[in-house]
Amino acid sequence: MLGLMQSQPLLISSLLEFAERHHSDGEIVSRRVEGDIHRYTYRQLASRSRQVARAIEALGLQFSDRVATLAWNGYRHLELYFGVSGSGRVLHTVNPRLHPDQIAWIMNHAEDQVLCFDTTFLPLVQAVHARCPTVKRWIALCDADKLPADTGIPGLISYEAWIAEQSSDYAWPEFDENSASSMCYTSGTTGNPKAALYSHRSSVLHAYAAALPDVMNLSARDAVLPVVPMFHVNAWGLPYSAPLTGCKLVFPGPALDGKSVYELIEAEGVTFAAGVPTVWQMLLGHMKPGGLKFTHLNRTVIGGSACPPAMITAFQDDYGVEVLHAWGMTEMSPLGTLCTLKNKHLGLSKDEQMKIRMKQGRAIYGVDMKIIDGDGEELPWDGKTYGDLLVKGPWIVANYYKGEGSPLVADKQGRGWFPTGDVATIDADGFMQITDRSKDVIKSGGEWISSIDIENIAMGHPAIAMAACIGMRHPKWDERPVIAVVKKPGAEVSREELLTFYEGKTAKWQIPDDVIFVESIPLGATGKMLKTRLREQLTGYQLP
Ligand code: ADP
Repeated sequence: MLGLMQSQPLLISSLLEFAERHHSDGEIVSRRVEGDIHRYTYRQLASRSRQVARAIEALGLQFSDRVATLAWNGYRHLELYFGVSGSGRVLHTVNPRLHPDQIAWIMNHAEDQVLCFDTTFLPLVQAVHARCPTVKRWIALCDADKLPADTGIPGLISYEAWIAEQSSDYAWPEFDENSASSMCYTSGTTGNPKAALYSHRSSVLHAYAAALPDVMNLSARDAVLPVVPMFHVNAWGLPYSAPLTGCKLVFPGPALDGKSVYELIEAEGVTFAAGVPTVWQMLLGHMKPGGLKFTHLNRTVIGGSACPPAMITAFQDDYGVEVLHAWGMTEMSPLGTLCTLKNKHLGLSKDEQMKIRMKQGRAIYGVDMKIIDGDGEELPWDGKTYGDLLVKGPWIVANYYKGEGSPLVADKQGRGWFPTGDVATIDADGFMQITDRSKDVIKSGGEWISSIDIENIAMGHPAIAMAACIGMRHPKWDERPVIAVVKKPGAEVSREELLTFYEGKTAKWQIPDDVIFVESIPLGATGKMLKTRLREQLTGYQLP
């Protein structure tokens, strides 16, 4: 017997409809590329998002066609989040920090039909547009009178002119909640980037979960600042959780330096902020010398990379801000675990509590996790035994977009688990702690660098016989790549020559910080480079 309750698909447009009806005067504040501050309400967001939906219809795009963005966090990007997905098309948020070759590859793979970009990224668009034959409309996110001239981009129009032609009279369509809503490529694995293709259902469920008290604890009384970019896993889902709760939204635009972020937090009464450790390092670095304090900020979620204990302490002791350490992945929409204490921990000493806060935290309802050994056997939750971390749940990928074969690993009951590439312990209370990474990648300032790509470039140099790229701890960027190389017999190349060789072949920030010349690189039985052994050999090495 089926239940007798109303059946209503979980659609992203419903979040916006809710905010428009119940939080219509809730504020959305954005620092724009132009430098000024723009403010409006959920009512205006909803109205303009419907104009966007109509403008997309007018372009003749089919259901599930992809609309790409290259944009900072701001109100126009938010309108695209709802206008594109709400009308049944797929929003593809492209990471502008990638090399133009990677961007062109990703856009072709996604078969994007439209690209909307902030004018900051005009040079990037000029570099890729001729290589993106599927794109039939290029739209600059600016006022009609600010449209850059002589760009060489065919048919370029301004966003404001594009939507101005449309009325806001539009009824959001109803369709299957499992339809694709948005996509995000991750290069956090080897080989070509892979896309997580989110659905309306997965996004709405994730938005609900993110707002829970032991997750981000969002409410209509909050003012939320997502510093984490909207081009990176939908800014951890905050653009969806915000209309669901009716909280105020504050967008930093391109100004992510400590001073700009601090001023915005204070001016807009931000209570909750989200970002990677590097951003908070810049913020704290700005505040310390002048003895600055926060007026309203009371908690911040930090994830994407391990949060240094000193940062947790500084936020807590010096500024009275609770740090919520979080872990997730692009493939997980992204939230997996969040570190909030349980009742029984409240009586513990500060040091004991700190040991818990440094962990990546407890699974959120909707995410199940386990650690396994090399034979696939589940390992105990004793806080000491570590193994490969696997997850499953309704907002975790089952397949990659156009992927070949499922990435999932079946358990004895035949249920599929997603292998995260992280190595972790889980304690008896269910707190997970990342201890290592089995995937061969480096994460610098919250962005991935593929070790293999960096090695392949070095191997392309005529003097190099073998190359191994590893991540070294860095106080600001968490990790920075260095390349260990073996020269071909009789061949010569200097450190500077090899570093220059990288220029133009990868994004500037992905170029290794140093070259280490070695006699040999340790290899395992199957000929695979043993990077753990190489690391041991380099003990004591300091980044320049
Ligand atoms: P995001 O940066 O949003 O977490 P990505 O897919 O780019 O998503 O990266 C996911 C990977 O980042 C994880 O598999 C893990 O290796 C690393 N990571 C994320 N959060 C943490 C954290 N709190 N501590 C350590 N590593 C983390």
